[in-house]
Amino acid sequence: MLSCKQVAAVASDYLDNNTPLKWQIRLHLLMCANCRRFVRHLKITRDISAKIVGEDASVNTDVIWKNLQAQLKKEKLPDRE
Ligand SMILES: [Zn+2]
Repeated sequence: MLSCKQVAAVASDYLDNNTPLKWQIRLHLLMCANCRRFVRHLKITRDISAKIVGEDASVNTDVIWKNLQAQLKKEKLPDRE
């Protein structure tokens, strides 16, 4: 059986349906809640990224960073050290 480390290493390929280990990974996911959660979160993250890129092909990290800063400013979180 694959180890959790091995599953994590190929999780992205697994979501792309791009790995010969597909069935071994499925078997591992059946038995391992941690990796199930990991793969689910990875999928959510990828879906969100794909959506952002799909909405505006000109989006770059600069824009994302500025939006993030603007949002943080709005929330007015107290500074912590
Ligand atoms: Zn695992």
